[in-house]
Amino acid sequence: MKYDVIIIGGGPSGLMASIAAAEQKAKVLLIDKGNKLGRKLAISGGGRCNVTNRLPVDEIIKHIPGNGRFLYSAFSEFNNEDIIKFFEKLGIQLKEEDHGRMFPVSDKAQSVVDALLNRMKDLRVEMRTNTSVETVEYEENRTRGVLLKTGEFLECTCVVIAVGGKSVPHTGSTGDGYPWARKAGHTITDLFPTEVPLNSQEKFIREKRLQGLSLRDVALSVLNPKGKVVKTHQMDMIFTHFGVSGPAVLRCSQYVVKTMKKFNVDKVTMNLDLMPSLNEEQVFQQLQKALKDEPKKAIKNVLKGLVPERYLLFLLEVCKIDEQEIGATLAHEKIRELAKMCKQFRFEVSGTLSIEKAFVTGGGVSVKEVHPKEMASKMKDGLYFCGEVLDIHGYTGGYNITSALVTGRLAGLNAGKKAASLRSYN
Ligand SMILES: Cc1cc2nc3c(=O)[nH]c(=O)nc-3n(C[C@H](O)[C@H](O)[C@H](O)COP(=O)(O)OP(=O)(O)OC[C@H]3O[C@@H](n4cnc5c(N)ncnc54)[C@H](O)[C@@H]3O)c2cc1C
Repeated sequence: MKYDVIIIGGGPSGLMASIAAAEQKAKVLLIDKGNKLGRKLAISGGGRCNVTNRLPVDEIIKHIPGNGRFLYSAFSEFNNEDIIKFFEKLGIQLKEEDHGRMFPVSDKAQSVVDALLNRMKDLRVEMRTNTSVETVEYEENRTRGVLLKTGEFLECTCVVIAVGGKSVPHTGSTGDGYPWARKAGHTITDLFPTEVPLNSQEKFIREKRLQGLSLRDVALSVLNPKGKVVKTHQMDMIFTHFGVSGPAVLRCSQYVVKTMKKFNVDKVTMNLDLMPSLNEEQVFQQLQKALKDEPKKAIKNVLKGLVPERYLLFLLEVCKIDEQEIGATLAHEKIRELAKMCKQFRFEVSGTLSIEKAFVTGGGVSVKEVHPKEMASKMKDGLYFCGEVLDIHGYTGGYNITSALVTGRLAGLNAGKKAASLRSYN
């Protein structure tokens, strides 16, 4: 039996692609090697699934630093607002949280997965789980079908590769799609971990001095070896037993990877600005005023209202200031030094956790070889790509699932249309 469209991978991109193809009346088979569909989707957003983001399209594109601009034409066909409407139609109401992030009202990622699976059942998409694809077969310039690990060959008109990247492999994303794309003549750009915590060998990290401490709304910068700022992100961060993590760190992580590669270095300096809304002089004035107002109190008790206490004690030590000293006797230069540390605490990081531990895989199938409105391969007729297998990566905040759903929609829609047109032609 010949299928119109075979979709490999049951992540958000593949599930959406199967729905879009079936809506075109195509005979669709979705294959996944796992025992369940949407495994990564079900654990996304801390189990709540940050399914998309409500910022305007231009902003969404800015939050997808890995080839976001490639998505402009895709967004003109199906965008974040369409995703929201799509889920509402399936009975999943979404709610907006900070930074435009959208979550299901149920706060359950599984409800998003179930809604997609129910729609697929309604559209009679055939699903095969526990089925691993070995490769995609081509003949001359077109796609011929899919070869399973068992040796079974499944013939079809179109194949959609939706197997994700290499991150969090226990969810099934093990990088299987790259050789299939290469075999079709596609370029795979360098793969790297992104949205990933950073390692640091600094003494204060090894000694776990700040482990577990969260800092809110700080400006974290990646510096190049000449001390120039490569990128700054203002968000929360956390110190861990191996280094640093949290939203600001995740967003900076790809710039650490790129700086290490560009300058061929094994360490990168980060600058931590605790008070981004004030300049150093203003911080100095604030500290000085607080100390003047209560000259007889121990410094640590006066300043803990301005700087989180654990971080304050750490900075006092860095500046060699006795925490018990009173404001009246503290030299001006020492207050200046402390103000500088609040703005410019510098520490080295020695890279990221592995690609397997990253939230997202950077790099992938080069977008230059994919039609941006159809997600169709420029190399083989009947071949489509969607989701994280593509060289597209966004920050955390709903941008990666948005990219997966939008590219999935277009890949499925166009594969479905193509198969239908060939059917009526034959
Ligand atoms: C812990 C975590 C939380 C996240 N939270 C969010 C979030 O809240 N919001 C957000 O926007 N992004 C989030 N992301 C990123 C987002 O989940 C991914 O970008 C997205 O799932 C990618 O979708 P995909 O369809 O491309 O691939 P995947 O979701 O990776 O799915 C790929 C599927 O292909 C199947 N497959 C692979 N190889 C084969 C093969 N050989 N044969 C058959 N099947 C195969 C796998 O079993 C898997 O089911 C999170 C990521 C992680 C790791």
